[in-house]
Amino acid sequence: MRGLKRSSGKRLSPLAGKDSVFFDLDGVIYRGPDAIDFAVESINQISLPVAYLTNNASRTPEQVAHQLAGYGLQLRPEDVVTSPQAATTLLASMIPAASTVLVVGGEGLLQEVSQAGFVITDSADDEPVAVVQGFSPEVGWSQLAEASFALQRDPSVLWLATNTDWTIPVQRGVAPGNGALVSAVHLAVGRLATFAGKPERAMFDVAADRLQVSAPLMVGDRLDTDIKGARAAGMSSAVVLTGIDQAKQILAAGDDQRPDYILDDLRQLHQPYPDIVRSVDADEVHTVEVGKAVVRRKGHVVRVARAGEAIDLLRAGAACIYDSGLKIFGLDVDPQLYEGA
Ligand SMILES: [Mg+2]
Repeated sequence: MRGLKRSSGKRLSPLAGKDSVFFDLDGVIYRGPDAIDFAVESINQISLPVAYLTNNASRTPEQVAHQLAGYGLQLRPEDVVTSPQAATTLLASMIPAASTVLVVGGEGLLQEVSQAGFVITDSADDEPVAVVQGFSPEVGWSQLAEASFALQRDPSVLWLATNTDWTIPVQRGVAPGNGALVSAVHLAVGRLATFAGKPERAMFDVAADRLQVSAPLMVGDRLDTDIKGARAAGMSSAVVLTGIDQAKQILAAGDDQRPDYILDDLRQLHQPYPDIVRSVDADEVHTVEVGKAVVRRKGHVVRVARAGEAIDLLRAGAACIYDSGLKIFGLDVDPQLYEGA
């Protein structure tokens, strides 16, 4: 089955058998302005090729690499894969070279589209054959209106968006993200955009192509972008609990968003991942043991039998729930699984 794996014999780390590691940034490497504990030293210890995947379309790879280097990471701008790069790769596969493209977004997006040889405009009057839309704090009504006019002028005009993130966390709170701005244009034109960033596989394909790798481990903090995208691209994935998604979301994850590994922090990339030991008795009681944690399910009732380490309890609970084949709302789940041991 997909999802959490049972290994046998020697316990291996999540990096065993992989040829590269892809990292999400926000919630994995930094949170707000600060590096997340153990992230930088754990990444610098990795001997495999590493890529950094960001849906943020407002910054260039150079700017992202500069920020990451400031935390102590050793990387080059080529190690950064942005959603504008994924969008531009898609664009190049869909319209002729040197076509006119209306760009709504920031420097990161403008640079990629222009480097790919397209002619950039900000006016629908120039009859662009495509509209590419990414987030920038400077995007306002005028640009959204031009995008709308260009898309209404001709139904064959292509509409690509870098990413679908509805919200963007900033220092003072949560603000509308690119998905919300794309949605504003959608309301005006009644069409749907094609997306390029996570969870679409374009980002993952661009990263794998660039590193010339085929068996990466994707590490992220969001099931609906990082893990879902890795799954869609046929890649292994690890969710780390230092960002957005926590026990509750992991236990409730649909089968297209289930990680192969669950990690407290990035140190666990280098540590043996515990065996997930499953058994079923004559009364149809399904038992999952991880370390000292034991979770049992009979029918739709899931109970903690022994807590053990909190992370192992979550791993055992997730495996038990995923194995059940039942949707989370059909299960009676012990609150101890998501409220902490
Ligand atoms: Mg993130």
